[in-house]
Amino acid sequence: MKQTILAAGFALFRATGLHRLVAPLTAGEGAILMLHHVRPWSGAAFAPNRLLEITPEYLESVLGALVAQGYDLVSMDEAHARLKAPRGGRRFAALTFDDGYRDVAQFAAPILRRFRAPYTIFVTTGFADQTAPLWWLELEDAVRLLDRVEISVGGEALSLPAGTPEAKAAAFARLYPSLRGLPEDEMRGLIADLLARAGGARDHAARLCMDWTELAELARDPLCAIGVHTITHPMLAKHDAATMRRELAESRAVIESRLGRPATHLAYPVGDPTSAGAREFAAARELGFASAVTTRPGVLFRGHAAHMTALPRLSINGLWQTPGAFEALLSGAPFALWNRGRRLNVS
Ligand SMILES: [Zn+2]
Repeated sequence: MKQTILAAGFALFRATGLHRLVAPLTAGEGAILMLHHVRPWSGAAFAPNRLLEITPEYLESVLGALVAQGYDLVSMDEAHARLKAPRGGRRFAALTFDDGYRDVAQFAAPILRRFRAPYTIFVTTGFADQTAPLWWLELEDAVRLLDRVEISVGGEALSLPAGTPEAKAAAFARLYPSLRGLPEDEMRGLIADLLARAGGARDHAARLCMDWTELAELARDPLCAIGVHTITHPMLAKHDAATMRRELAESRAVIESRLGRPATHLAYPVGDPTSAGAREFAAARELGFASAVTTRPGVLFRGHAAHMTALPRLSINGLWQTPGAFEALLSGAPFALWNRGRRLNVS
């Protein structure tokens, strides 16, 4: 449904050029871009997490568009300083990469260097330790391996055909929101059990995420900053306050001691309103983070200076890898429509 609305919106902007007309009002001070994997496309027929990966070519196209539109490419420190400055200046964009995937070092870093683009990698310490599971990839693997998915979710017994890529996509689409609605431990337990029954391995962090040696090496690049993305990648709002605070504070301490430099910027895992809300925004502020980013969509306005731990981002979504889609997002016009003109979504 949301994808259909998005598709119609992008088509409307493309046909009318409306976003270019309204951009002076809607594009704000700049934007924080959210990326995950950057790697050549595998061509997989069943790829329910494809929204989390873009190709190196699309990253180049995004950076080229930013430069062509006169955006300054800045670090999160600089984005913070510019939002806090008394007056606005040139528009700016900060690039952020969540979770600490190895493909970012392999495919994105050389392109970022060529554009002299600063970037922040938000590291989940449990991924770097190769101990925390990446549950959304475990669910994908389980559905890929199974011809039928038998699972009981929230008291409802499901038996979903999964013999073809289309059936697998339908099964994943049916399961994902139901599982996400459960308490986190229950969701993770069900997925781990399903993966075990499918004969899959729990080795995603080792296969995909940088370890501490790799992170230290990448962090030597002056363009690269390391930010905080918790210990186990939980949906923080679903946990008690002590657990939530420990996830934030301990992961920061581990990163700072492992890499020997301050880590003052935070990204909330999952980052939507069911994962990070007023309690998390206050905790991040109390713990002294300079900024914290959500996955709520939007561009930055001056009003965000008073809400530095509730910043929106533009998701560079693997399902929409076209120059037009990025231009529309950057204009801020989709969010002005979506939020009916409201600029801040910070509570
Ligand atoms: Zn993440």
